[in-house]
Amino acid sequence: MKSALTSSRAVARKIAPGLGLVCVTCSDAIKFVAKAPAFQVIANVYEGSTWRRVDHFHLECYLDSGEPFGPVSQAS
Ligand SMILES: [Zn+2]
Repeated sequence: MKSALTSSRAVARKIAPGLGLVCVTCSDAIKFVAKAPAFQVIANVYEGSTWRRVDHFHLECYLDSGEPFGPVSQAS
């Protein structure tokens, strides 16, 4: 049985200022906007049981692309 810790998963977090992240789906910057706080999705991507990378998405882009790394959970 696969552990939940060794498969791809996605978490939503509030976008923080100054991180310089780019959305994997649309290639646009994930920008912090003080007036309209938004969420980004952080996906830990595993191939088999091996961690490969962290991908970042706008929340909208992640949902639009059909949640490729599983349903989004809220960061605690
Ligand atoms: Zn995007």
